[in-house]
Amino acid sequence: MLPRQHIPNTQLQHPLLDQLKVEMGVMRLDQVHPTVSGNKFFKLKYNLAEALKQNHKQVLTFGGAYSNHIHATAAAAKLEGLQSIGIIRGELLDSQNPTLRYAKEVGMLLKSISRELYRNKIHPEFLNQLRQDWGEFYLIPEGGTNALAIKGTTEILSSNQSNFSHLATPIGTGGTFAGLANSLLPQQELIGISALKGEAFHAEMKHLLHKHRIKSKGNIALFTQYHHGGYAKWSSELIEFIHWFWESFGILLDPIYTGKMAFAVWDLLQKKYFKPGSRVLLIHTGGLQGNLGFTQRTGIILPGPLT
Ligand SMILES: *Cc1c(COP(=O)(O)O)cnc(C)c1O
Repeated sequence: MLPRQHIPNTQLQHPLLDQLKVEMGVMRLDQVHPTVSGNKFFKLKYNLAEALKQNHKQVLTFGGAYSNHIHATAAAAKLEGLQSIGIIRGELLDSQNPTLRYAKEVGMLLKSISRELYRNKIHPEFLNQLRQDWGEFYLIPEGGTNALAIKGTTEILSSNQSNFSHLATPIGTGGTFAGLANSLLPQQELIGISALKGEAFHAEMKHLLHKHRIKSKGNIALFTQYHHGGYAKWSSELIEFIHWFWESFGILLDPIYTGKMAFAVWDLLQKKYFKPGSRVLLIHTGGLQGNLGFTQRTGIILPGPLT
Protein backbone atom coordinates (compact mmCIF):
# COMPACT_ATOMS: atom_id res chain seq x y z
CA MET A 1 0.00 0.00 0.00
CA LEU A 2 1.13 3.54 -0.64
CA PRO A 3 2.78 4.85 2.51
CA ARG A 4 1.61 8.30 3.48
CA GLN A 5 3.97 10.91 4.77
CA HIS A 6 3.39 13.16 7.73
CA ILE A 7 1.07 15.97 6.58
CA PRO A 8 2.18 19.34 7.94
CA ASN A 9 -0.10 22.29 8.62
CA THR A 10 1.20 25.74 7.76
CA GLN A 11 -0.07 28.53 9.99
CA LEU A 12 -0.80 31.80 8.15
CA GLN A 13 0.33 35.11 9.64
CA HIS A 14 -1.43 38.26 8.43
CA PRO A 15 -2.58 41.56 10.03
CA LEU A 16 -6.17 40.99 8.86
CA LEU A 17 -6.27 37.64 10.67
CA ASP A 18 -5.03 39.30 13.89
CA GLN A 19 -7.52 42.13 13.51
CA LEU A 20 -10.49 39.79 12.98
CA LYS A 21 -9.20 37.31 15.60
CA VAL A 22 -9.33 34.45 13.14
CA GLU A 23 -6.69 31.74 12.98
CA MET A 24 -5.95 30.22 9.60
CA GLY A 25 -3.88 27.25 8.60
CA VAL A 26 -3.23 25.24 5.46
CA MET A 27 -3.26 21.45 5.55
CA ARG A 28 -0.55 20.46 3.13
CA LEU A 29 -1.98 17.46 1.30
CA ASP A 30 0.25 18.64 -1.54
CA GLN A 31 3.04 17.07 0.53
CA VAL A 32 1.35 13.76 1.35
CA HIS A 33 3.49 11.84 -1.14
CA PRO A 34 6.39 12.75 -3.46
CA THR A 35 4.62 11.63 -6.65
CA VAL A 36 0.98 10.91 -5.77
CA SER A 37 -0.07 14.36 -4.69
CA GLY A 38 -2.93 15.81 -2.73
CA ASN A 39 -6.42 14.43 -2.53
CA LYS A 40 -5.64 11.98 -5.35
CA PHE A 41 -3.47 10.00 -2.96
CA PHE A 42 -6.53 9.31 -0.80
CA LYS A 43 -8.85 8.72 -3.75
CA LEU A 44 -6.55 6.15 -5.33
CA LYS A 45 -5.39 4.31 -2.23
CA TYR A 46 -8.26 1.83 -1.81
CA ASN A 47 -8.97 1.61 -5.53
CA LEU A 48 -5.49 0.34 -6.27
CA ALA A 49 -5.65 -2.00 -3.29
CA GLU A 50 -8.90 -3.38 -4.68
CA ALA A 51 -7.42 -3.78 -8.17
CA LEU A 52 -4.59 -5.85 -6.67
CA LYS A 53 -6.99 -7.83 -4.54
CA GLN A 54 -9.02 -8.70 -7.63
CA ASN A 55 -5.80 -9.81 -9.32
CA HIS A 56 -5.92 -7.17 -12.00
CA LYS A 57 -2.75 -6.39 -13.88
CA GLN A 58 -4.00 -3.10 -15.29
CA VAL A 59 -6.05 -0.09 -14.34
CA LEU A 60 -7.76 2.16 -16.87
CA THR A 61 -9.00 5.65 -16.33
CA PHE A 62 -10.09 8.83 -18.11
CA GLY A 63 -9.00 12.42 -17.93
CA GLY A 64 -8.17 15.69 -19.62
CA ALA A 65 -4.70 16.30 -21.02
CA TYR A 66 -3.56 18.29 -17.95
CA SER A 67 -5.42 16.22 -15.39
CA ASN A 68 -4.06 15.78 -11.87
CA HIS A 69 -5.96 12.51 -11.77
CA ILE A 70 -4.10 11.14 -14.81
CA HIS A 71 -0.76 12.25 -13.36
CA ALA A 72 -1.48 10.70 -9.95
CA THR A 73 -2.95 7.46 -11.33
CA ALA A 74 0.10 6.94 -13.53
CA ALA A 75 2.44 7.48 -10.57
CA ALA A 76 0.45 5.39 -8.09
CA ALA A 77 -0.10 2.46 -10.47
CA LYS A 78 3.61 2.33 -11.18
CA LEU A 79 4.36 2.19 -7.44
CA GLU A 80 1.88 -0.66 -7.02
CA GLY A 81 3.27 -2.60 -9.98
CA LEU A 82 0.12 -2.16 -12.06
CA GLN A 83 0.02 -1.23 -15.73
CA SER A 84 -1.98 1.97 -16.22
CA ILE A 85 -3.96 3.07 -19.26
CA GLY A 86 -5.09 6.67 -19.66
CA ILE A 87 -7.87 7.58 -22.08
CA ILE A 88 -7.37 11.26 -22.78
CA ARG A 89 -10.06 13.69 -23.89
CA GLY A 90 -9.23 15.53 -27.12
CA GLU A 91 -7.88 14.77 -30.54
CA LEU A 92 -4.14 15.00 -30.09
CA LEU A 93 -1.49 13.78 -27.70
CA ASP A 94 0.81 16.76 -27.42
CA SER A 95 4.34 15.53 -26.75
CA GLN A 96 5.14 18.88 -25.10
CA ASN A 97 2.40 18.51 -22.50
CA PRO A 98 4.22 17.97 -19.18
CA THR A 99 1.37 15.99 -17.57
CA LEU A 100 1.19 13.47 -20.37
CA ARG A 101 4.96 13.36 -20.73
CA TYR A 102 5.26 12.42 -17.08
CA ALA A 103 2.47 9.85 -17.28
CA LYS A 104 4.17 8.21 -20.24
CA GLU A 105 7.55 8.29 -18.53
CA VAL A 106 6.24 6.32 -15.58
CA GLY A 107 4.68 3.77 -17.91
CA MET A 108 1.09 4.84 -18.55
CA LEU A 109 -0.24 3.83 -21.94
CA LEU A 110 -2.04 6.80 -23.42
CA LYS A 111 -4.79 6.95 -25.97
CA SER A 112 -6.55 10.11 -26.98
CA ILE A 113 -10.10 10.01 -28.21
CA SER A 114 -12.36 12.72 -29.58
CA ARG A 115 -14.45 14.75 -27.19
CA GLU A 116 -17.49 13.15 -28.76
CA LEU A 117 -16.37 9.59 -28.06
CA TYR A 118 -15.15 10.64 -24.65
CA ARG A 119 -18.72 11.42 -23.64
CA ASN A 120 -19.39 7.65 -23.75
CA LYS A 121 -16.95 7.07 -20.93
CA ILE A 122 -19.49 5.46 -18.63
CA HIS A 123 -21.46 3.48 -21.24
CA PRO A 124 -21.09 -0.29 -20.73
CA GLU A 125 -20.78 -0.89 -24.47
CA PHE A 126 -17.95 1.56 -24.77
CA LEU A 127 -16.20 -0.01 -21.78
CA ASN A 128 -16.61 -3.44 -23.37
CA GLN A 129 -14.99 -2.12 -26.50
CA LEU A 130 -12.10 -0.83 -24.40
CA ARG A 131 -11.77 -4.28 -22.81
CA GLN A 132 -11.53 -5.81 -26.26
CA ASP A 133 -8.85 -3.30 -27.25
CA TRP A 134 -6.76 -3.40 -24.08
CA GLY A 135 -7.65 -6.61 -22.24
CA GLU A 136 -9.18 -6.83 -18.77
CA PHE A 137 -8.66 -3.86 -16.46
CA TYR A 138 -9.83 -2.36 -13.19
CA LEU A 139 -11.81 0.76 -14.01
CA ILE A 140 -11.22 4.00 -12.16
CA PRO A 141 -13.81 6.58 -13.22
CA GLU A 142 -12.89 10.04 -14.53
CA GLY A 143 -11.89 12.21 -11.59
CA GLY A 144 -11.57 9.03 -9.55
CA THR A 145 -14.72 9.37 -7.46
CA ASN A 146 -16.41 6.15 -6.33
CA ALA A 147 -17.18 4.46 -3.01
CA LEU A 148 -13.56 3.38 -2.45
CA ALA A 149 -12.32 6.89 -3.23
CA ILE A 150 -14.66 8.27 -0.58
CA LYS A 151 -13.45 5.64 1.87
CA GLY A 152 -9.99 7.10 1.24
CA THR A 153 -10.95 10.77 1.52
CA THR A 154 -12.78 10.00 4.77
CA GLU A 155 -9.27 9.43 6.18
CA ILE A 156 -8.01 12.93 5.33
CA LEU A 157 -9.20 14.37 8.65
CA SER A 158 -7.85 12.95 11.88
CA SER A 159 -8.00 13.99 15.52
CA ASN A 160 -5.27 16.55 14.69
CA GLN A 161 -7.87 18.71 12.97
CA SER A 162 -10.54 18.46 15.66
CA ASN A 163 -9.87 21.95 17.03
CA PHE A 164 -10.59 23.70 13.73
CA SER A 165 -14.03 25.28 13.45
CA HIS A 166 -14.01 25.50 9.64
CA LEU A 167 -12.46 23.34 6.94
CA ALA A 168 -12.36 24.47 3.32
CA THR A 169 -11.84 22.42 0.19
CA PRO A 170 -12.17 22.90 -3.56
CA ILE A 171 -14.68 20.67 -5.33
CA GLY A 172 -14.51 18.95 -8.70
CA THR A 173 -16.45 15.68 -8.75
CA GLY A 174 -17.11 15.96 -5.00
CA GLY A 175 -15.36 12.80 -3.81
CA THR A 176 -13.07 14.75 -1.54
CA PHE A 177 -15.87 16.87 -0.15
CA ALA A 178 -17.95 13.76 0.52
CA GLY A 179 -15.15 12.08 2.47
CA LEU A 180 -14.53 15.21 4.51
CA ALA A 181 -18.25 15.57 5.19
CA ASN A 182 -18.22 11.97 6.37
CA SER A 183 -15.60 12.64 9.04
CA LEU A 184 -16.73 16.11 10.10
CA LEU A 185 -17.32 16.74 13.81
CA PRO A 186 -20.60 18.26 15.07
CA GLN A 187 -19.00 21.60 15.95
CA GLN A 188 -17.29 21.95 12.55
CA GLU A 189 -18.33 23.51 9.26
CA LEU A 190 -17.14 22.22 5.90
CA ILE A 191 -16.87 24.88 3.21
CA GLY A 192 -16.86 23.58 -0.36
CA ILE A 193 -15.82 25.81 -3.24
CA SER A 194 -16.91 24.64 -6.65
CA ALA A 195 -14.25 24.87 -9.34
CA LEU A 196 -17.00 24.47 -11.93
CA LYS A 197 -19.67 26.88 -13.06
CA GLY A 198 -23.30 26.11 -12.45
CA GLU A 199 -25.99 25.77 -9.84
CA ALA A 200 -26.78 22.13 -10.69
CA PHE A 201 -23.92 21.52 -8.36
CA HIS A 202 -26.06 21.85 -5.22
CA ALA A 203 -28.34 19.03 -6.36
CA GLU A 204 -25.41 16.92 -7.58
CA MET A 205 -23.66 17.15 -4.24
CA LYS A 206 -26.83 16.26 -2.41
CA HIS A 207 -27.21 13.26 -4.70
CA LEU A 208 -23.62 12.16 -4.16
CA LEU A 209 -23.92 12.35 -0.36
CA HIS A 210 -27.21 10.50 -0.48
CA LYS A 211 -25.87 7.80 -2.79
CA HIS A 212 -22.98 7.08 -0.43
CA ARG A 213 -25.21 7.39 2.64
CA ILE A 214 -23.23 10.23 4.09
CA LYS A 215 -24.96 12.23 6.79
CA SER A 216 -22.52 14.80 8.01
CA LYS A 217 -22.48 15.44 11.75
CA GLY A 218 -21.30 18.99 11.12
CA ASN A 219 -22.51 21.87 9.02
CA ILE A 220 -22.03 22.04 5.27
CA ALA A 221 -21.73 25.19 3.17
CA LEU A 222 -21.36 25.19 -0.60
CA PHE A 223 -20.24 28.19 -2.62
CA THR A 224 -20.74 28.35 -6.37
CA GLN A 225 -19.69 31.92 -7.16
CA TYR A 226 -15.91 31.42 -7.09
CA HIS A 227 -15.40 29.58 -10.39
CA HIS A 228 -13.75 32.53 -12.19
CA GLY A 229 -15.44 31.68 -15.48
CA GLY A 230 -15.78 27.91 -15.13
CA TYR A 231 -13.68 24.77 -14.93
CA ALA A 232 -10.05 25.45 -15.89
CA LYS A 233 -10.98 29.07 -16.61
CA TRP A 234 -9.38 31.92 -14.70
CA SER A 235 -9.61 35.65 -14.06
CA SER A 236 -6.71 38.09 -13.71
CA GLU A 237 -7.91 38.59 -10.12
CA LEU A 238 -7.35 34.90 -9.45
CA ILE A 239 -3.86 34.93 -10.96
CA GLU A 240 -2.95 38.03 -8.92
CA PHE A 241 -4.27 36.34 -5.80
CA ILE A 242 -2.09 33.27 -6.42
CA HIS A 243 0.96 35.52 -6.68
CA TRP A 244 -0.07 37.42 -3.56
CA PHE A 245 -0.60 34.19 -1.61
CA TRP A 246 2.85 32.94 -2.58
CA GLU A 247 4.52 36.23 -1.64
CA SER A 248 2.58 36.50 1.64
CA PHE A 249 2.73 32.92 2.86
CA GLY A 250 5.23 31.02 0.70
CA ILE A 251 2.60 28.51 -0.39
CA LEU A 252 2.02 27.63 -4.03
CA LEU A 253 -1.52 27.27 -5.31
CA ASP A 254 -2.87 26.06 -8.64
CA PRO A 255 -5.37 28.07 -10.71
CA ILE A 256 -7.79 25.16 -11.27
CA TYR A 257 -8.69 24.19 -7.69
CA THR A 258 -6.67 25.38 -4.70
CA GLY A 259 -6.32 28.96 -5.98
CA LYS A 260 -10.09 29.28 -6.29
CA MET A 261 -10.62 27.77 -2.85
CA ALA A 262 -8.08 30.03 -1.11
CA PHE A 263 -9.40 33.07 -3.01
CA ALA A 264 -12.90 32.25 -1.77
CA VAL A 265 -11.83 31.76 1.85
CA TRP A 266 -9.92 35.04 1.84
CA ASP A 267 -12.93 36.79 0.31
CA LEU A 268 -15.17 35.29 3.01
CA LEU A 269 -12.69 36.46 5.65
CA GLN A 270 -12.85 40.01 4.31
CA LYS A 271 -16.65 39.82 4.35
CA LYS A 272 -16.55 38.81 8.04
CA TYR A 273 -17.94 35.36 7.39
CA PHE A 274 -15.79 33.95 10.20
CA LYS A 275 -16.64 35.03 13.75
CA PRO A 276 -13.80 36.07 16.08
CA GLY A 277 -12.23 32.97 17.56
CA SER A 278 -12.78 30.89 14.41
CA ARG A 279 -10.04 28.51 13.42
CA VAL A 280 -10.05 27.90 9.70
CA LEU A 281 -8.16 25.16 7.89
CA LEU A 282 -7.67 25.36 4.14
CA ILE A 283 -7.16 21.92 2.68
CA HIS A 284 -4.48 22.17 0.02
CA THR A 285 -5.57 19.38 -2.27
CA GLY A 286 -2.39 19.49 -4.39
CA GLY A 287 -2.59 19.91 -8.16
CA LEU A 288 0.66 21.79 -8.53
CA GLN A 289 1.83 19.48 -11.32
CA GLY A 290 -0.67 21.29 -13.54
CA ASN A 291 0.96 24.71 -13.16
CA LEU A 292 3.65 24.07 -15.75
CA GLY A 293 1.09 22.97 -18.33
CA PHE A 294 -1.12 25.94 -17.46
CA THR A 295 1.73 28.34 -18.18
CA GLN A 296 2.55 26.50 -21.40
CA ARG A 297 -1.06 26.65 -22.54
CA THR A 298 -1.88 30.23 -21.54
CA GLY A 299 1.44 32.04 -21.36
CA ILE A 300 0.51 33.16 -17.85
CA ILE A 301 3.39 33.00 -15.41
CA LEU A 302 2.62 31.47 -12.03
CA PRO A 303 4.88 31.75 -8.98
CA GLY A 304 7.32 29.09 -7.89
CA PRO A 305 10.00 27.08 -9.60
CA LEU A 306 9.37 26.53 -13.29
CA THR A 307 10.90 23.13 -13.72
C1 LIG B 1 -9.07 16.45 -8.39
C2 LIG B 1 -8.83 17.65 -7.55
C3 LIG B 1 -9.84 18.26 -6.81
C4 LIG B 1 -11.26 17.82 -6.90
O1 LIG B 1 -11.50 16.69 -6.14
P1 LIG B 1 -12.92 15.97 -6.23
O2 LIG B 1 -12.80 14.85 -5.30
O3 LIG B 1 -13.09 15.53 -7.66
O4 LIG B 1 -13.95 16.98 -5.87
C5 LIG B 1 -9.52 19.32 -6.00
N1 LIG B 1 -8.25 19.80 -5.95
C6 LIG B 1 -7.25 19.26 -6.66
C7 LIG B 1 -5.91 19.87 -6.57
C8 LIG B 1 -7.51 18.17 -7.48
O5 LIG B 1 -6.50 17.65 -8.20
